[in-house]
Amino acid sequence: MRRIGLYPGTFDPPTNGHIDIFGRAMKLVDELVIGVAVNESKKPLFSLDERVAMVKAECAKLNGPGLAEIRVLPMHGLLMKFAEACGAQIILRGLRAVQDFEYEFQMTAMNEQLNPDIETVFLMADVRHQAVASRLVKEIASLGGNISSFVTPEVKTALLEKYRK
Ligand code: ADP
Repeated sequence: MRRIGLYPGTFDPPTNGHIDIFGRAMKLVDELVIGVAVNESKKPLFSLDERVAMVKAECAKLNGPGLAEIRVLPMHGLLMKFAEACGAQIILRGLRAVQDFEYEFQMTAMNEQLNPDIETVFLMADVRHQAVASRLVKEIASLGGNISSFVTPEVKTALLEKYRK
């Protein structure tokens, strides 16, 4: 059976934490679909097209023998419907310290009832990237702080460009 995993997120912008999880997820499945959520309620800084392009550019750097094929797709609507449409048997999520737990716990329990055949798997980033959050990276960048340890040079340039405007 070909294992397909879906890693959903807003990726506004993708951080070194997300990229760490991409690398781990690629070892577990044959095909990794990265679903970039529209997520209007979060009022993203980057448009959906910009976020898809940034995630694609980061994924293009990740390949190697035995690693999953990656597809980066814009994601509309209900997560479980999107997962079913992709043929995913697994949903992958990153888990940071306690702050993610409550939300993820609730989401997983409810998603399980929508489709009990799809398993949610949690991955932890390397300790250096565990605390990184897109929201804080944006805040630091907007205040002129150095974000080099949190995002790639390409994402850093894109962020600085946004805040120059
Ligand atoms: P954020 O929560 O920072 O707005 P996303 O919604 O794009 O980011 O997150 C997508 C997924 O990636 C979620 O499962 C989230 O917990 C996970 N994630 C984000 N940052 C990290 C990190 N530094 N380490 C591990 N997982 C992370």
